[in-house]
Amino acid sequence: MELLIKNGFVYDPINGVEGEKMDIAVKDGKIVESVDEHRAKKIDASGMTVMPGGVDIHCHIAGSEVNTGRLLRPEDHLKDFERKTIITRSGVGHSIPSTFTTGYRYARMGYTTIMNPSMPPLEAKHTHEELNDTPMVDKATYPLLGDWWFVLEYLKEGKIEECARYVAWMITSTKGYAIKLVNPGGLEAWGFGHNVNSLDDQVPYFGVTPREIIRGLCKVNKLLNLPHTIHVHTNNLGKPGNYLTALDTMKCVEDLAAENKPVIHITHCQFSAFKGSDWRTIESGAEEIARYVNNHSHVTLDMGQVIFTDTTTMTADGPFQYTLHELSENKWVNHDVETETSSGIVPFRYRRKSYVHAIQWSIGLELALLIRDPWKIFMTTDHPNGGPFTSYPRIMTWLMSIKAREATLRRINPRARSKSLLPSIERELGFYEIAIVTRAGQARALGLHNKGHLAAGADADIAIYNVNPETTDPSREYKMVRKAFRKAAYTIKGGKVVVRDGEVVKHVEGATMWLDVKTDEQAEVTDEMKRRFREYWTVEYDNYPVTENYLQVSHPIAVKASV
Ligand SMILES: [Zn+2]
Repeated sequence: MELLIKNGFVYDPINGVEGEKMDIAVKDGKIVESVDEHRAKKIDASGMTVMPGGVDIHCHIAGSEVNTGRLLRPEDHLKDFERKTIITRSGVGHSIPSTFTTGYRYARMGYTTIMNPSMPPLEAKHTHEELNDTPMVDKATYPLLGDWWFVLEYLKEGKIEECARYVAWMITSTKGYAIKLVNPGGLEAWGFGHNVNSLDDQVPYFGVTPREIIRGLCKVNKLLNLPHTIHVHTNNLGKPGNYLTALDTMKCVEDLAAENKPVIHITHCQFSAFKGSDWRTIESGAEEIARYVNNHSHVTLDMGQVIFTDTTTMTADGPFQYTLHELSENKWVNHDVETETSSGIVPFRYRRKSYVHAIQWSIGLELALLIRDPWKIFMTTDHPNGGPFTSYPRIMTWLMSIKAREATLRRINPRARSKSLLPSIERELGFYEIAIVTRAGQARALGLHNKGHLAAGADADIAIYNVNPETTDPSREYKMVRKAFRKAAYTIKGGKVVVRDGEVVKHVEGATMWLDVKTDEQAEVTDEMKRRFREYWTVEYDNYPVTENYLQVSHPIAVKASV
């Protein structure tokens, strides 16, 4: 079980390695200082780029929402299918591929860790069943907690410590990884056909505001010492003028930051960076958001890049999905998850010639290029909302090459082109920065200490791409770089070669990571609480938690809370 990767150009930003030619040694699934050169299996990586395995901080790949999307869209399966091979199973789906295909496609691109961002706690079992069924990658999932009645009740009473204990109980019970907030307060309001429009609107019947929910859960997150920050989908997402709400959201936790550490992650920020008063006058708010982020260190973001393709939008933001259904006149599913959250699904096609879609395309890239520090903004499409994850290599080359951006700019809506900030941006990311925005930065933001880097002790999750950074100019030869990122020369998962030249050569399961949060005092399980479970939910308290034996490969991460 020893492996030696020889002579590759290594990009390992967490350890400050920038394209140095060096060997990487692997033993028993971990990176080690050295191995016996004669005994070890050798990979000749000369002329190739070696990076830690890719990490995706936000992709909808499992659970009832994703599966309902699959049911809603037979047309998504028909046009994109994969035959079985001796090693892989068959599968279907362009924007919402079936579980096995999802794992294979990530592995082919050199990705080894992916995070499923929105799990209604009530549907945790379904989510874990599908994560179990997604091979090749390690994974985790974030329970939706911003509109959970227990949270709203405790925050209303200002009981932060009690709230923290229940959140700890919920994360551990549902085998979750981070606190997810979606349109905080808005989902509860949606239960009554309403929404919230600012951080200071009241949530019906609870008398709390989105600001209080965000701040409250940010404090809870700190009390629990969770590895990731709160993970926030802002209020007013997808509405013209919402860049102000995004700024308000980041500002509202500014005073909770300590030691320049992030305390909030704004996800798929493109969808929250619209200037203008309606769809006709919509413009980019990327400059304003980038200015704020450049001047503050308590926030990280991911892009939510739009791709011009047919895709499926899905989010817990039920009211937003209703708006999108009305705009697109497409078929639609909407769901109220008892007293926890909501969700909606609408098929969607982003068109080059649409002014709004082209502006959205531009905003995602503007954010990633105008935010100077690559440790603050990560590459995502909010798969499948902005487009399928399989388009990541395309985004990497847009980030690396003015020429690649120009090639797309030429083909978009002319009015959007004239408004786009991209022609004025000369920045092109190099391989080192790409390694940050696609793996190192994401792993650091998630607090995954054994992922996203290649020092001894790290998990041996490695991607090798057939591109020579010494002889290839990604700015000019972006098509070649894109090809290399599409099909990893090697993907190594837990020390095993699982992909060779873009083909899956070995099936591995991948673990489900979850937080085992230990509080000094446990959440009190009183008869009153059990009664509320009976009243609020169709699942009783005793049946609610996901037991560890439910996970195919369980990887608990112990967290010691300060409450
Ligand atoms: Zn999302």
